[in-house]
Amino acid sequence: MAPEELARRLASLIGREGPPERAPDPVNAPMIRHFCEAVDDRNPVYLDDERAARSLHGGLVAPPAMLQTWGMRGLASRTSGRSGPLADVLSLLDESGYTSVVATNCRQEYARYLRPGDRLSLTSQILAVSDEKDTALGPGRFVDQLMIYRDADGAEVARMEFRILKFRPKAAARPGPAPPAVRRPRPAQTPDNAFFWQGVREGQLLIQRCSGCGRLRHPPGPMCPSCHSFEWTTQRASGRGRVHSFVVAHHPPVPPFEYPNLIVLIELEEGTRLVSNLIGVDPSEAEIGMPVEVVFERVDPELVLPLFQPVSGR
Ligand SMILES: [Zn+2]
Repeated sequence: MAPEELARRLASLIGREGPPERAPDPVNAPMIRHFCEAVDDRNPVYLDDERAARSLHGGLVAPPAMLQTWGMRGLASRTSGRSGPLADVLSLLDESGYTSVVATNCRQEYARYLRPGDRLSLTSQILAVSDEKDTALGPGRFVDQLMIYRDADGAEVARMEFRILKFRPKAAARPGPAPPAVRRPRPAQTPDNAFFWQGVREGQLLIQRCSGCGRLRHPPGPMCPSCHSFEWTTQRASGRGRVHSFVVAHHPPVPPFEYPNLIVLIELEEGTRLVSNLIGVDPSEAEIGMPVEVVFERVDPELVLPLFQPVSGR
């Protein structure tokens, strides 16, 4: 498609609101519980009927950060026909060679807490599609989308601005292994997690321990979620644990990662969890509950990462 034609067709889709989509399920306690387990949020207003009833909410509410999950339709919808301006923009960009996608930004605003039983519907519109930008992943265009969530009475309960990058993957232009110049993204280093990465460089897996109540926590943060103490120390983990959950990423192939990419949530025997890669096992053989141990892998000259491998002779 000629660039002018693409620009004209994209422009015609900007600002158009798609048809309302009904959330597949009402807001419900089981999904709330699963979400809270996954992110280790123990706030009783999300989980405990009785305590929630005595709180200022007067009953269970959903974590606001769960917003997006209520509109997710699951894998089946990927093959069934989606319509609306977003689907049209995405297929136009696909046809123009921007076949890969990565989410780059998400901003949510909440008008009220959601409660079990709320039936949501959402509408989306495209706010903007950028000109082509040269990014580290390849040349691409940013797509800004606005989604508005409404309850059964039509009142807005939340809105989300979501930005994705549709790009032409560099790897696709060059078959074979990723060029060595592309290195793994550096972990975000903050004053809160500096001890963790220092430990990794020294071959130790450290867990933050509250000095007030002794609770272990990960990822690191400035304050204990249990007793609100700012005082903390560290405990060296044994490095042993189990696969609590995992996903196998196949697409899009972003260098320098190898695919299929086995991404695991490890539960350490001390009880905290961390996200890592499982190595030394075929992704088809990964299992929840699999005993694993940490291995400090030098992935490039300047980066050591705590990865996990199955415990031998299990
Ligand atoms: Zn504490």
